Amino acid sequence: MTAHKTTTRPKMPAPSDLLNIDSMLDEEERMIRDTVRRFVRERVDPIIGEHFEAGTFPRELIGEMAEMGLLGMHLEGYGCAGLSAVSYGLACQELEAGDSGLRSFVSVQGSLAMFPIWAFGSEEQKQRWLPRMAKGEVIGCFGLTEPDHGSDPSGMRTNARLEGDTYVLNGSKMWITNGGVADLAVVWAKAEEGIRGFLVEKGTPGFSTSDIKHKLSLRASVTSELYFDNCRVPAENVLPGVVGMRGPLSCLSEARFGIAWGATGAHRACYEAALEYAKSRVQFGKPIAGFQLVQQKLAIMATELVKSELLALQLGRLKDAGQVHPVQISVAKRNNVREALKTAREARSVMGANGITLEYPVSRHMNNLESVFTYEGTDDIHTLIIGQAITGLSAFS
Ligand SMILES: Cc1cc2nc3c(=O)[nH]c(=O)nc-3n(C[C@H](O)[C@H](O)[C@H](O)COP(=O)(O)OP(=O)(O)OC[C@H]3O[C@@H](n4cnc5c(N)ncnc54)[C@H](O)[C@@H]3O)c2cc1C
Repeated sequence: MTAHKTTTRPKMPAPSDLLNIDSMLDEEERMIRDTVRRFVRERVDPIIGEHFEAGTFPRELIGEMAEMGLLGMHLEGYGCAGLSAVSYGLACQELEAGDSGLRSFVSVQGSLAMFPIWAFGSEEQKQRWLPRMAKGEVIGCFGLTEPDHGSDPSGMRTNARLEGDTYVLNGSKMWITNGGVADLAVVWAKAEEGIRGFLVEKGTPGFSTSDIKHKLSLRASVTSELYFDNCRVPAENVLPGVVGMRGPLSCLSEARFGIAWGATGAHRACYEAALEYAKSRVQFGKPIAGFQLVQQKLAIMATELVKSELLALQLGRLKDAGQVHPVQISVAKRNNVREALKTAREARSVMGANGITLEYPVSRHMNNLESVFTYEGTDDIHTLIIGQAITGLSAFS
């Protein structure tokens, strides 16, 4: 039997960290988190509502994010910061506390555009693109989804026909983050030998884009369609290291990891906004935070927040140990986005009519999270991945 230790009375935990998760981070991780948190508070929070309303991405922040090492942050070499998965996750968390659009930009740049070049590119492709992408001088996008092929991208119609030393691309991609602003598109298309990744430079004849307007979610993020009409891409622009769906799926695993973390940032921002509001909003002669029904909502938000953060942290520790399985990423992406969305909705209700305005971040996060719930594998698709892993039976079709 272990002896019962006598300790001093534990300190009351912070309202946004009821499990003292902060103590599970090392000094470098805390420093990275605090740096990105400060950047978001000082540079993002004051302007993001206007960008959301105008439907524009805050391009002016790209240089600063690059300087902080946030682009391709978890990749080694080629001008990338080479930091741990947990550090990358913490940065995603803080960015998404600002806005999912900002985290999406960083996820797409680092995990969906730089990662495939880093993992499957030739040495020449790596040297040519990665250092400039890390500096934010070249913006990337990732074209997998098509108008008729979302959850089942393997049915894609975009195709690549080899003619001499050139591939001729035909087809289209839809819902592509950064599409209209990208200098380089990583495009997945069906070639004779299987699905291949192509590096398509902006301005290549036969390649055009148009931005998707009238979105009610991720408004501070560019989302576009990509069109390929006999677009000729030199064979040297093919990613040589992968053929088949393993290519795009491994990129998605990287990005989903960041989303699992990012969602906890939006979750925290909504909870904190509701908590502050509830403490100062007086109805029936007292702050609404003093009513049991409001406390129940806040208690659930705070509990789900730390549960999500613990999931993300364990996922990060597994990834840093080289031990993460895709199904574990599905568990965290599905849970953390789902719970963040629930918290956003509850936070909105706590804030009454004020909750629907852009003066507070809650409705903005709530609308953003609807996209996050859907992209990078919908909630349903992650449910099926988990279901298959635990039963051994596929229920996809
Ligand atoms: C803002 C935004 C940004 C995006 N950025 C990118 C990007 O940068 N690059 C990119 O390639 N894609 C991107 N996407 C696309 C995104 O990945 C897809 O929207 C997603 O994969 C779902 O595809 P879909 O919208 O066609 O829905 P569908 O696949 O048509 O699904 C519709 C519904 O059916 C359900 N469903 C589908 N199959 C099954 C099944 N077997 N069992 C049960 N239910 C099922 C889904 O869960 C969903 O509820 C983005 C999307 C958004 C909204």
